[in-house]
Amino acid sequence: MKELYHWVNGKQVKGTSGRFGDVYNPATGEIIAKVPLATQAELDAAIAGAEKAQAEWAATNPQRRARVMMKFADLINQNMDKLAEVLSREHGKTLPDARGDVQRGLEVIEVCMGAPTLLKGDYTDSAGPGIDLYSMRQPLGVVAAITPFNFPAMIPLWKMGPALSAGNAMILKPSERTPETSLLLAELIQEAGLPDGVLQVVNGDKDVVDGILDHPTVQAVGFVGSTPIAQYIYGRAAANGKRAQCFGGAKNHMLIMPDADLDKAADALVGAGFGAAGERCMAISVAVPVGEATADALIERLIPRIEKLKVGPYTGGDDVDFGPVITKAAQSRINGLVNSGVEQGAKLVVDGRNLSIQGYEDGFFVGPSLFDNVTPDMDIYKEEIFGPVLSTVRAKTYEEALNLVIDNEYGNGTSIFTADGDTARDYASRVNVGMVGINFPIPVPLSYYTFGGWKKSAFGDLNQYGPDAFRFYTKTKTVTARWFSGIKDGASLNFKALD
Ligand code: NAD
Repeated sequence: MKELYHWVNGKQVKGTSGRFGDVYNPATGEIIAKVPLATQAELDAAIAGAEKAQAEWAATNPQRRARVMMKFADLINQNMDKLAEVLSREHGKTLPDARGDVQRGLEVIEVCMGAPTLLKGDYTDSAGPGIDLYSMRQPLGVVAAITPFNFPAMIPLWKMGPALSAGNAMILKPSERTPETSLLLAELIQEAGLPDGVLQVVNGDKDVVDGILDHPTVQAVGFVGSTPIAQYIYGRAAANGKRAQCFGGAKNHMLIMPDADLDKAADALVGAGFGAAGERCMAISVAVPVGEATADALIERLIPRIEKLKVGPYTGGDDVDFGPVITKAAQSRINGLVNSGVEQGAKLVVDGRNLSIQGYEDGFFVGPSLFDNVTPDMDIYKEEIFGPVLSTVRAKTYEEALNLVIDNEYGNGTSIFTADGDTARDYASRVNVGMVGINFPIPVPLSYYTFGGWKKSAFGDLNQYGPDAFRFYTKTKTVTARWFSGIKDGASLNFKALD
């Protein structure tokens, strides 16, 4: 059994707590590694090392820091297959999907090659007589990232790129379920030239998270995970005077208008609802067809597409559509929610419970489920299922569909399928959700925009990556400078003896 480690001051460091978390291969149900759960003393040592390294890193000119990002991007590309393999093994997603996970993180690193431009301040010449005004962006110091299991490469990269290229040092606390991908990324960025101590990977659970939140050296916390934990972390970090941006869970709706291309909408729903076993914060989990005829025609198209999906291990070949869910507990919870949907009166049109895959009977697999006639009072609507379950809520009108989304407590992503530009425009303008797709199912913005939800999908200010991230990871200093009349007005240049 492999024993994982922490990554501190540029090397692997064995855990000393004697406490470990189990890392599974979700496809087989086997424990593949033990991850050490750090003590407060181990965390303190990592933070002290980061603080020491940060001063010199911040004094390194931004272009040199950007060159580390260039080399890092190069190494990620060279190691794409290895990263995808490690990621798929501990997470369960298919290899092409794992490559996508790495790729969407890599794209943020690519933007960070231009960090010097994003770090530039403003300048006003002659703001008053002989007065110039300018601002600069300075790093915060030591910052922390606490990341979820579902994007083991992408989200750590979203955090590392902007924070490090802005001159901070970072404590990364990856999910204890998928820690190995982060450890591999740490080795690659060190090989790219990041000085020792600037990125410390400290593995652990709630104890380490609380240690980070209470540590006076840590200036900012970037979190991604479920809503209750996001809210908790935001509150505790803010109470301790830290900056915090905490991204939480989701319930993403897709509106399907009567004029939509229903084949395209059905294809999009299947990809967005079931890809990565529905374990994406931008997964579409609610389909909202407008009008009974649209709903009937949509369900008719969805059923054969969903029944055709192949569920299997990441080693199962190119035709596997999605893999297992992350833990046995997640598997039971999802099946339990499907049971509750049936009990509460929704119509289960495709039943994904009781899926067993030959040779992988102990894997955490859940087949795809489709519900029709779901209503907002049901648990399957109210809860973030985070599994391969798509619920259909039928709406009579566009306004009813729009209000369903507006009234939902989450606001991460949403999508509308329609042939009418006016409807699409109205939806994008009025909906209270952070990321909107028009005939586009998973509207994760590109890396030079920025990512963030509204309502209970995000706590704090400023989004992830793009210019917002550089604002989050820097403080602004503004200088008002006056120079009195000097040498140009005839001051003596002679070397005189003092009187
Ligand atoms: P999670 O909240 O269980 O864990 C996230 C992180 O918090 C992990 O590092 C974990 O160790 C830590 N943690 C867990 N419980 C804690 C506690 N009680 N106190 C302190 N720290 C704790 O989330 P997860 O299951 O790893 O990830 C899935 C969730 O993340 C879903 O809700 C999904 O929607 C969300 N997510 C959101 C986004 C986004 O950008 N909004 C992106 C990806 C995932």
